[in-house]
Amino acid sequence: MSPRSVLISGGGVAGPTLSYWLSRHGFQPTVVERSQGLRSSGNPVDVRGPALPVAEEMGIMPRLRDVATQATTMSVVNASGRQIARVPMPATRSATGTREVELPRGDLAATLYEAARDDAEFLFDDTIVTLRQDEHGVDVTFDRAAPRRFDLVVGADGLHSTVRRLAFGPEPDFVRHMGVYVATMPLGGPVDHPHDVLMYNTPGRLVSIHPSRDHALAAFIFRGPAISDFDYRDTEQHKQIVTEAYASAGWRVPELLERLQKTEDLYFDSVSQVRLPTWAKGRIALLGDAASCVSLFGDGSSLAIAGAHALAKALAAETADHAGAFRRYETEHRTLVDPKQRNIGRAAGLLIPKTRLGIAARNLAARVWLSRR
Ligand SMILES: Cc1cc2nc3c(=O)[nH]c(=O)nc-3n(C[C@H](O)[C@H](O)[C@H](O)COP(=O)(O)OP(=O)(O)OC[C@H]3O[C@@H](n4cnc5c(N)ncnc54)[C@H](O)[C@@H]3O)c2cc1C
Repeated sequence: MSPRSVLISGGGVAGPTLSYWLSRHGFQPTVVERSQGLRSSGNPVDVRGPALPVAEEMGIMPRLRDVATQATTMSVVNASGRQIARVPMPATRSATGTREVELPRGDLAATLYEAARDDAEFLFDDTIVTLRQDEHGVDVTFDRAAPRRFDLVVGADGLHSTVRRLAFGPEPDFVRHMGVYVATMPLGGPVDHPHDVLMYNTPGRLVSIHPSRDHALAAFIFRGPAISDFDYRDTEQHKQIVTEAYASAGWRVPELLERLQKTEDLYFDSVSQVRLPTWAKGRIALLGDAASCVSLFGDGSSLAIAGAHALAKALAAETADHAGAFRRYETEHRTLVDPKQRNIGRAAGLLIPKTRLGIAARNLAARVWLSRR
């Protein structure tokens, strides 16, 4: 019998997109999301490249544009706040002329959820606890909901995927720390520079203030080796790590560190890549960051949308052969993901040069490039 019921773990970017396309192809998707509801803010992410035709076909581009940020330039400032280099952020377009958008991750997730929710079951505030598959299906137990059996299970539950841990193995086998950490927090409104991302570098450290629609977002992105007792859920530990990393930095950093101590909305994680030899095991497959996180430098949200579309298309094309469908999805989507994973070092080198000389060379290159345009 063709697989019909699909459990998707994770209601972020990839999960609702997959749910939307699966229901259009006649499947019955259920999405389980650990958080209680969808948060409305978050880091600015892009919908561009291969995600644009998917978003166009879903009819969500007008909504995405409504909530898009308006940043058009990156301005590098020195310790006293003077602009010392400027880099335009030109928007790319799809084949049909649709312009890429940048928007808070939470707004993207909410828009995708709105598109998917009428044709899927969503279980919030819950998580998969065990998975046991046999030839004909997967038995799933949840933290809160009653146990159920599904034809297929897809892990779209992000960098620290539970499905990956349960079905493929422990996180350290697949997650590679890229020598960089990132912390972000909302600053509240109003926004002083609605079109400028402000960036301040010291060797190995970057602080940026990124305008969103009605508030700004501060980001601390810095180099550091893997921390042995790092716990991605321990906010007090994160505040201490950031404070120590930026102890002597200038510009607005002392004020931002004070706000960091008080914030209740801190995102912190190691910048990591996920690499697995295969994205499917029997009736269980991985998608988005869970399968192939490219780190924050590499179009992860656009790849999550494109991957979800590719997976749904493959399952619809090979309804009687889920293993063949998973192979087809993986072969197609790896052609987009693999080059991105290889280019991460270059992006990190430009954003967070390791030395003063590196910062000066980057700023000079930006000025020369600008003068020739
Ligand atoms: C600071 C930062 C900046 C970024 N900037 C960009 C950018 O500019 N451009 C870009 O394209 N990408 C960017 N990204 C990457 C982008 O956010 C991710 O690649 C993208 O969101 C991946 O989508 P996903 O659906 O796979 O995972 P996520 O969006 O992380 O969604 C995973 C979902 O699973 C849920 N979940 C986790 N565990 C469980 C569980 N056990 N059970 C149920 N649910 C669970 C989570 O709550 C979450 O809702 C950035 C990321 C960060 C951290």
